[in-house]
Amino acid sequence: MLEDEPVASEVHRYNIGDIEVTVLSDGFRMVPVDDKYIRNAGTAEIAAELAAAGLPTDKIKNTYAPIVLATAGRRVLIDTGNGEAVRAQSKGERGTLDSSLAAAGLDRNAIDVVVISHFHADHVNGLLTADNKPAFPNAQIKVPEAEWKFWMDDGEMSRASAGRMSELFANNRRVFDALGRKVTPYAWDEEVAPGVTAVGTPGHSIGHTSFVVASGGARVFVQQDVCNNAVLFTRHPGWHGFFDQDPVRAEATRRRVCDMLVAEQMPVQAYHFPFPALMRVEKQGDGYKVTPTTV
Ligand SMILES: [Zn+2]
Repeated sequence: MLEDEPVASEVHRYNIGDIEVTVLSDGFRMVPVDDKYIRNAGTAEIAAELAAAGLPTDKIKNTYAPIVLATAGRRVLIDTGNGEAVRAQSKGERGTLDSSLAAAGLDRNAIDVVVISHFHADHVNGLLTADNKPAFPNAQIKVPEAEWKFWMDDGEMSRASAGRMSELFANNRRVFDALGRKVTPYAWDEEVAPGVTAVGTPGHSIGHTSFVVASGGARVFVQQDVCNNAVLFTRHPGWHGFFDQDPVRAEATRRRVCDMLVAEQMPVQAYHFPFPALMRVEKQGDGYKVTPTTV
């Protein structure tokens, strides 16, 4: 890590039965709150909710927490962060996964499997180094088959709306073409690594996937963008973020997953929740409340 970079690498470890979880920070981004952030709520409503949580009201701190699972002798990375190129552009605010891996005593050459949840830039761009080489050269790259089918479909790309969707198509082609499209698609309900089962949670994207990690009677639900911000989308599961591809389906998925986590008292490891991003979910009013927890 360069000495003038402001971001400290962050590492948090815990166990789910025999599976060791290492939570790694990939930094953060301050996202301005404007009237486009939530499609069906205005800035005043958003600000009121942020203020009630004791947070700044004009910007949202979006954080990124990839995890490495040590399971049955394999090292499995779930999502790859923003990537080294963005690290330089953001002056070390994000794209810091490599520093966090080093701080955890992990070498990216020793990652055996990379499992991708969905094809948004803050989850896939870390597949490449700053010079567009594979960042995890010895790893099998596993991707949701629904996601792969959609983003690699030339017809879908030709119909993509200008702006966000067409940029996402271009970015995904850039990343996966640099990898020679050498990926292994996986299906929902499939075990993607020992003790790690893929769960379909579509809406945020067509093939957005979560995971149940289970070992020795303990279970944790790994979710990335079912609930993005830990305050806004738990308190208001009916709010539709600009980043949800199918917002109605995303809301249905969010309510179904949160209800399940409450009913089964299953902790959630959530990619965009405040580090170390391990929370329990409770019902509160029409929505939910999350608080830090342990396994
Ligand atoms: Zn995300």
